Amino acid sequence: MRNKKDIHIASSMDELETHIKLPDKMKDLNLLILNEKAEQVFNKAKNNYEDEEKTYILLMKYCEIVQLMKKQFNRDASYIAGMNKFHLRTAITMLTHIKESLENRYEEKAKQANNKEQIKYSKPKVNGVRPNEEKNNFEFESTISNKDLFFLLQNTKRSKICLLDTRPSDAFQDSKITACDVINIPKENLVPGLTADLLKNKLEGSFQEKWIKRHSYDYIVILDQGTEDIEGDLKLIYLRNALLQWDPPYDNRKKVKFLRGGYEDFSYVCPWETSQSAGLTQPNSDAEHLSDVELEPEPESVKPESKRVQYPSLDSMQNDLLKFQIKPTDSSSEEEMDTQEITSTLIEPPVFDRSTKPSIKMNQFNKVEIIKPLYNINDELDEENNELPNNIEQLENRQLSIDNNILENEDSYTLNYKNKEKDFCPIPHVDRSTKPLDDLLKVSKTQITGGDGLRGLLNLGNTCYMNSILQCLSSTEDLVKYFINVYNEFINHESRTKGLVARELSNVIKNLWTTSDRSFLCHKFKETIGEFKDMFKHYDQQDSHEFLTILLDWLHDDLNEPVDNRIILGASKETGEEDWGHWTKTNNSIIQQLFYGQQKSTVSCDTCFEKSITFEPFSSLSLPLPSEGNRCTLADCLQLYLNGESICGWHCPKCKCSRDATKKLDIMRLPPYLIIHLKRFSSTGYKKNSNVEFPKTDLNMSNFINGIEHRNWKYSLYGVSNHSGSLDGGHYTAYCLKKLKNKWYKFDDVRVYEVDSSIICSSEAYILFYCRKNLLMFEN
Ligand SMILES: [Zn+2]
Repeated sequence: MRNKKDIHIASSMDELETHIKLPDKMKDLNLLILNEKAEQVFNKAKNNYEDEEKTYILLMKYCEIVQLMKKQFNRDASYIAGMNKFHLRTAITMLTHIKESLENRYEEKAKQANNKEQIKYSKPKVNGVRPNEEKNNFEFESTISNKDLFFLLQNTKRSKICLLDTRPSDAFQDSKITACDVINIPKENLVPGLTADLLKNKLEGSFQEKWIKRHSYDYIVILDQGTEDIEGDLKLIYLRNALLQWDPPYDNRKKVKFLRGGYEDFSYVCPWETSQSAGLTQPNSDAEHLSDVELEPEPESVKPESKRVQYPSLDSMQNDLLKFQIKPTDSSSEEEMDTQEITSTLIEPPVFDRSTKPSIKMNQFNKVEIIKPLYNINDELDEENNELPNNIEQLENRQLSIDNNILENEDSYTLNYKNKEKDFCPIPHVDRSTKPLDDLLKVSKTQITGGDGLRGLLNLGNTCYMNSILQCLSSTEDLVKYFINVYNEFINHESRTKGLVARELSNVIKNLWTTSDRSFLCHKFKETIGEFKDMFKHYDQQDSHEFLTILLDWLHDDLNEPVDNRIILGASKETGEEDWGHWTKTNNSIIQQLFYGQQKSTVSCDTCFEKSITFEPFSSLSLPLPSEGNRCTLADCLQLYLNGESICGWHCPKCKCSRDATKKLDIMRLPPYLIIHLKRFSSTGYKKNSNVEFPKTDLNMSNFINGIEHRNWKYSLYGVSNHSGSLDGGHYTAYCLKKLKNKWYKFDDVRVYEVDSSIICSSEAYILFYCRKNLLMFEN
């Protein structure tokens, strides 16, 4: 070890810290100059290691400059954090060691000087215990700094530290410290006389578990957005008192700390220990803004706009990335142009903590472009599909196969994407450079984070039909992931509903999945759809299937991104390939990708047997029920559907007159999410209450498909829209499987409760939501 330079600047830490203050004029410097300064200071500190005092001052100054940069250039806080991540980490590790050493040395020096005076410490002490009697001097202190917390995290078992984050749950969901156990206890729960037991009942499940084992933690650290002093906030005191005074027989005195400067300061100093989504997506958010977020307004005064949560959008991420590459400058003076060159070599690329981010963002950063020949047939893989698609190629190929309908026989057809050089390849070939990654692929790689989706929907007056469908859609995982992770404002405002239906559904889904309240009123959603269709404007009972069909159609329209550059060559006409190809050129949305299949309708004249064939996309299959008996199976209904029916008054193009004819349907193509509607209502309003037996885990559609695709035809049930009573006076509920919990729940407007899967199959089942098996990343 090198010889340390004698203490020469101060006689205590307090005194030393007076040297840290930055000159005021630094506040006026631009980002690039500041970054340069920070770099200089940091390098200087590293080269002054023998002089601990000087190193300490320089490193602290470095941290101060970084904080200043982040505060001054709020919009770029994440980049600044990214740029300085490694230096900051080094700086803080060094600081904690130097501080320890310096404290001992000052103490030693004081003793030597035979100074009986109590040694000064920078932090307040409690109970008159002298901090130097303990190894870690924060052991007896009631507050700790963010650097101390970092030191704790480095030197204590992380599982022994628990943070009580009192910020609003929105802010918490958005970004939080991820280094150790954290319990979110929004301040509205903190009331006078709060006891540890009372508080327990206010916490959500997973937080409750952590709260119950609070005595096993060595440290419990209370924090909020940015409070410097716990004594200034009564609510924080209530929480501390709950632990110190109202938690007998435990003595939590030694372990409960308050984090000075709160989350804000900590996230500046240790950004890598947080899930930093807020900085990336809410460039203008500040502490006040976050803490003022109105979480759950009363139903009467719901203002969806005001409580919309900002989510990371891919576009904003990309824009941000571009912005970084160009380097942010305030103006374009010559001086800055010069420094720009210099700093561009100094600035490290931002490093984001990807472990906490949905992986789709990784794709965006890495610009994954896998171009594969179509003959990498993945259908075989699908057929005995017991494997999850565990890499992007599999997903990509699967997606291609959904789009392009890979054939086993390569000579029989070619579906081609033409590239710009009009380079027709002799073998089928996909040029994905002109095509964005498909939504389905995007969402399949992401995860739902946040709540559990177990929120009820208030009934606005006969809106149970709507609630039932919304809960089923909110259990469609790829759709939820889309609306939470991928969906952004770049939607089709030219559509019939001007993008508003997608926007409002997105709000509903986000509300169902990301907030902790147990119920939600979706009146803005209802208002919006009411604007576009009178039947939804009023408070009459409606048919949930009709509502679903219209909703999916609107959503598709709102999210439609036609792919005009798609060229279809050689697709078979007979199998519907060509029709599907043409249709998907103009119909390309997450709704189409998830829910739309294709059927063939063959009408033949009973007189001359002339045939007319049309291919039709469908978003759900409407199956008739056998007229006899009270029991049947779903397979019976499917067979009946495909059997064909007689129609009269068909205009035969050959006979050139009205004829009796037979209409036969064939399913050519099935979507990843298959919606089956049981036609319980006759046109006269009569309802069939037959008990239709339908499989929950193994619906095998291979006997009912006439298409050429070879893939996994097995589906499992994840949602049921139920109807009880008659058409007019009936009531709608939903059974939904929440896969993250692997449990079935009944959603009855505002009421949500767990149910046994044995009751799912009932005579009330009206619409069945099936998902292709092994479609989801986290199934099984
Ligand atoms: Zn005819």
